[in-house]
Amino acid sequence: MALTIKRVLVTGGAGFLGSHLCARLLDEGHDVLCVDNYFTGSKANIEPLLKRPHFEAMRHDVTFPLYVEVDEIFNLACPASPIHYQFDPVQTTKTSVVGAINMLGLAKRVKAKIFQASTSEVYGDPTISPQAEDYRGNVNPLGPRACYDEGKRAAETLFFDYHRQHGVRIKVARIFNTYGPRMHPNDGRVVSNFIVQALRGQPITLYGDGSQTRAFCFVDDLVEGFVRLMATDEDCTGPMNLGNPHEISVAELARRVIDLTGSNSEIVYRPLPQDDPLQRCPDISFAKSKLGWEPQVRLEVGLSRTIEYFRELLTSK
Ligand code: NAD
Ligand code: UDP
Ligand code: UDP
Repeated sequence: MALTIKRVLVTGGAGFLGSHLCARLLDEGHDVLCVDNYFTGSKANIEPLLKRPHFEAMRHDVTFPLYVEVDEIFNLACPASPIHYQFDPVQTTKTSVVGAINMLGLAKRVKAKIFQASTSEVYGDPTISPQAEDYRGNVNPLGPRACYDEGKRAAETLFFDYHRQHGVRIKVARIFNTYGPRMHPNDGRVVSNFIVQALRGQPITLYGDGSQTRAFCFVDDLVEGFVRLMATDEDCTGPMNLGNPHEISVAELARRVIDLTGSNSEIVYRPLPQDDPLQRCPDISFAKSKLGWEPQVRLEVGLSRTIEYFRELLTSK
């Protein structure tokens, strides 16, 4: 079957996930427009893509209207690391909510299919495990994570209302913790923090007692899930969990990073941030049955590739 070349908009395209997605879409032959305000993303992430003739980058904040002509939209714009989304919480909610309204308005006008990068944070601090899509969650609407959690929940509401009210074709993915090359060294999320600390021989900062759990997905696996979800029939709107169901404690992650880097770093304990979820693990049955998808990259392999990336980055600086 011949590939149909599409004009694809990726908001947040200069971020960690966005830059991998842009590269994947270019490899498939599509015309990619990357829109980013460079709040947490960087030009360095997309620098290798700039010389490709089908790639275009535009500095733009999605809280302002955007008039372009495209066939598909991946809406990823939003800081994802707690320290960054809590830096300017009002802007974080605006990015999720006003950004969603603008991108949905754009999708409605040009009749584009639109994908939303939602999050496992819509489940808050979950009282059941693993979390399936029908779990309604346990979110504190007033706490420090609410700007992100509630912003993403409101965005999901907007996606489903634009779908029901205006017939917009939507795909909502609930992404669980994802890691890999091109995370920013100061991103603040746990995998990049631990690796950078280990490589620099600095203390590894474990928040709380480290018994809280997460399940970590390698970026290539996630991007494959994005592409497959976007290609599903019109009746498949999601929400769909995308993540790796291999759950481990954060303390265990610290040990693995120390082993894989061969670091002499010691572990230091820091207070657990307010509302930090105690457990998180995706039920990916829906993605498995609908997309025939499940993560392929084991944690040791993904961590080793990420460590290599940071080793090179830190040496070159
Ligand atoms: P990231 O911080 O690296 O990327 C976010 C990008 O959005 C950055 O390039 C940033 O500059 C851009 N951005 C922020 N506000 C913007 C605005 N108002 N207008 C235009 N651009 C803006 O984070 P990421 O890990 O690549 O996350 C991408 C998306 O995936 C986010 O929506 C995030 O909520 C979601 N997500 C990621 C994970 C994960 O583990 N990586 C988990 C759940 C959800
Ligand atoms: N919008 C946009 N690009 C477009 C079309 C709309 O950014 O190509 C924005 C527009 O600013 C509007 C929002 O999307 O505020 C929602 O559009 P919609 O058509 O749903 O609502 P309305 O224009 O009636 O407010
Ligand atoms: N964490 C940690 N040390 C760090 C950064 C994070 O122990 O330097 C913990 C954090 O408290 C949380 C888990 O690691 O329990 C994942 O944090 P992250 O910020 O990566 O993402 P979250 O899943 O909380 O959004």
